Amino acid sequence: MSNIRGLYIHVPFCIRKCAYCDFYSLAGQLGLVERYVEAVLSECRAYTGVPFRTLYLGGGTPSLLGDENLRKLIYGLRQCLDLSGLAEATIEVNPESATVQLLETTREMGIDRLSVGVQSLSDYELESVGRIHRAAQAIETLRRARKLGFRTVSADLIIGLPGQEWETLRMGLETLTGLGIEHLSLYCLSVEEGTPLAASPPGDLLSDDAQAELFDQASRFLERHAFIHYEISNFALKGHECLHNLNYWRGGEYLGLGPAAASHYHGKRFNNRPDFHAYLGNPAGQREGVEELGVQAKAAEEAMLRLRLLSEGLNTGELAARFGYENVQDLFGRLDEMATAGALVYDGSSYRLIPSRVLTSNPIFCRVLSS
Ligand code: SF4
Repeated sequence: MSNIRGLYIHVPFCIRKCAYCDFYSLAGQLGLVERYVEAVLSECRAYTGVPFRTLYLGGGTPSLLGDENLRKLIYGLRQCLDLSGLAEATIEVNPESATVQLLETTREMGIDRLSVGVQSLSDYELESVGRIHRAAQAIETLRRARKLGFRTVSADLIIGLPGQEWETLRMGLETLTGLGIEHLSLYCLSVEEGTPLAASPPGDLLSDDAQAELFDQASRFLERHAFIHYEISNFALKGHECLHNLNYWRGGEYLGLGPAAASHYHGKRFNNRPDFHAYLGNPAGQREGVEELGVQAKAAEEAMLRLRLLSEGLNTGELAARFGYENVQDLFGRLDEMATAGALVYDGSSYRLIPSRVLTSNPIFCRVLSS
């Protein structure tokens, strides 16, 4: 499925900031959830009747909306936008706030994909980066999700947590696959400037090489359990790939609502200011950074995104047909040089990253984007 349009809602609430987090989210503003929902519904009125094929509630912590506000939000979105052709609807939840009632409401509102912020099944690792849930809560959330009949249950795991070893990670993966998840996102811990983790890094933080080794072992484990490594950080059983994110990587359109949400809509890229209180005051007036890429820059960006898709890769015929051969000629030259140097694989129609080297693909992306 290509050329679909996705709807993303950024829910910026968290109970407490995790030590490594540099996403736009706020701790301790839960008294404003209701006003936030009203603001999103007001922002969406500018798009009345627009059809979307996927819906993704991300954050932050969408499960902090609570069942009543979640119901109000989804109901309001359905009233305003055309969500009659939704092929997938996802909500991210964290184990400490994914109550039975919230999960039941989620199913009732037609959400069929649950993404659980498990992060680790070791309490030591969770505590060491300030996560407030415990492994047992994550397992309970996944069990509940199974009983409620979500089409796809996904878990996020972090590679490179302080003191992490293959044995603990392997046991976590055994438990998750045993619980029947169909999708897993594996993210490497990165120490971002300005976070508490950067200010006081624990002594048992893993080196980049140790992270890469764990990532490789985890990938091999998942592949032995029938998971397809379909994107750099994402693994899925066949038919359970995330359609909403696939649309990003295929260069499709998406609209983001909520503070700090990014959009690629009607050929333009823009985002809402990361300012929660300004958003509540004037939800429709937060757009900034509007950018319309030229054809060659657009083709290079799409090539970079498509290279992230390890199984699909970047099909040169399709890219040339979309952007015109004259606009991709230089880009193909750069890709060809990288394939000759052994950094990419080319099979006569598509370029692909080398799966064992995905964690070091940044220089390849920089070269793709350079003109
Ligand atoms: S729960 Fe997620 S968004 Fe919130 S602080 Fe932790 S990592 Fe950041």
